[in-house]
Amino acid sequence: MKLAEATRAAARELTQGGIETPELDARVLASEAFGVGTAEVLVGAAEASSAGLATLDGFIARRLSGEPVARILGRREFWGLDFALTPATLAPRPDTETVVETALSFVADRSAALRVLDLGTGSGCILLAVLAELPGAFGVGIDLAPNAAAAARANAQNLGLASRAAFLAGRWARALDGTFDLVVSNPPYIESAAIAGLDREVRLHDPALALDGGADGLDPYREILSDLPRLLAPGGVAVLEHGAGQSDAVAAIAREQGLEVATVATDLSGERRALALGRTAAAGR
Ligand code: GLN
Repeated sequence: MKLAEATRAAARELTQGGIETPELDARVLASEAFGVGTAEVLVGAAEASSAGLATLDGFIARRLSGEPVARILGRREFWGLDFALTPATLAPRPDTETVVETALSFVADRSAALRVLDLGTGSGCILLAVLAELPGAFGVGIDLAPNAAAAARANAQNLGLASRAAFLAGRWARALDGTFDLVVSNPPYIESAAIAGLDREVRLHDPALALDGGADGLDPYREILSDLPRLLAPGGVAVLEHGAGQSDAVAAIAREQGLEVATVATDLSGERRALALGRTAAAGR
């Protein structure tokens, strides 16, 4: 069988299995299985090796059972960078690039020696994307899961950013005393009762710790926002991702802490997705 036929057969299986993007998934998985480019598998006139076919069969079976392509590959692209995934890390979402973009929009001098903090860093994707754009910055990433902190550290090494990033296992900012110019976070924000109704791709393959935001999905914001006034340097900005429909509630919790909303950022589909927050003069130093 030729590469292109094998790829088409895989796409047909995924279509029959009700997978939403069968052609794309087949192409990416075939490219991985045969070790050739994603364009090459479409036109590939070379014979598919039996080892490659066996690998592809295994990938297709996993995809049909609901495992996301990124989990099968063990990596996901975010902000143009490659992040290795582990069971302890949420797969980076394209919408989370909104957090990176918004945080960078507040930086006047990209070569400045800024201090950056990422709360609930997971794969490290937000922190490392920000550091990649700010060559003079140093970042701290914290995750409650030691395995996630370790995964983020490995990603920093792979991306050549390890000399400007430190990772800790701990609960939000409790271990920290000090101030930061940028604080970023994509905390868990799904209501506990909604977890069971999520797509199997998310429910079975993303870590519950990275999804479950408590009864109303806002518990992490209560914790993070109560610490922000002491964590933000003068003029510092925090950019927090939030779920659909949570923008006003998160902004209200922020105001209770004396923080003001500088920007409400929208994601790729035009939904409000992140808030940029700063200290008001009244919050004091
Ligand atoms: N954005 C993720 C999802 O839609 C949720 C991640 C989170 O809770 N921060 O599944």
